[in-house]
Amino acid sequence: THFGYRDIPSSSKEGLVASVFSSVASSYDLMNDAMSLGIHRLWKAHFVSKLDPRGGINVLDVAGGTGDIALRILDHARLKHIDRETKVTMLDINPEMLREGMKRIKRESMYWNTPQIDYQLGNAEALHSSMEIPPPRKGHKTLPPLKSQRTEDESVDLYTIAFGIRNCTHIDKVLEEAYRVLKPGGVFACLEFGKVNNPLLAQIYKQYSFQVLPSLGHILASDRDSYQYLVESIERFPTQQQFANMMKKVGFVLPGSEEGERRLRQEGLDGEE
Ligand code: SAM
Repeated sequence: THFGYRDIPSSSKEGLVASVFSSVASSYDLMNDAMSLGIHRLWKAHFVSKLDPRGGINVLDVAGGTGDIALRILDHARLKHIDRETKVTMLDINPEMLREGMKRIKRESMYWNTPQIDYQLGNAEALHSSMEIPPPRKGHKTLPPLKSQRTEDESVDLYTIAFGIRNCTHIDKVLEEAYRVLKPGGVFACLEFGKVNNPLLAQIYKQYSFQVLPSLGHILASDRDSYQYLVESIERFPTQQQFANMMKKVGFVLPGSEEGERRLRQEGLDGEE
């Protein structure tokens, strides 16, 4: 988990990613459970409870997929803080994932058709521009039309991105855009697969990810290639330290620095993340 604060003033790959997520959209939730043995639920629950969203804030959930993080944020605010004002915009580059998310919000939650949730087609690397919206596929035709608008400067209190940034070609652009859209003092929170330091565990993980995961993709979703891609994207992602350095370069204040620690205490986010 990486947290950072926006300081207070004092395609080539995209096409491939789009096709990967279009082909996995309908089986995505099942595969997440199968591949992580359900553990992704614990990580996501931990991530949201650590952020403790509350107080009618404006949240942007980038690479929101089928709404796992958005739903948890809204539930957390409602159940822990009786907060029905907090609003989440789910943003994703893939219209099929976003529409699966809409279907799920409609089917499984009380937020459908409320001002608490919104859906945006957009690219994490270019939140300043809108995207062309393709027509819905079969099974998505009864859903309301998608929107795609520029995300304004300093308009977001909390920016979340869970298992999404490793799919982006230019991580630095994603971070720059996150910084731009966050209000001063706003929080950037990224949940992503890190690197395992213990050599034995690293070996076990490598075997599992390169041999078991693509086969699971083949058996459960008839889609070995997409899952092979997902494994490789995890392998290519920077280490925790490299990622923290990229965040600092863009201007984020990190936990660990004097200023960061002070902020964390203020926000009640202090811990060993
Ligand atoms: N956040 C959700 C979760 O944790 O379950 C979904 C994660 S899913 C592994 C990754 C998502 O990132 C997909 O829905 C994909 O369409 C989206 N994505 C990939 N590249 C993106 C980009 N450049 N901008 C926005 N979303 C992107």
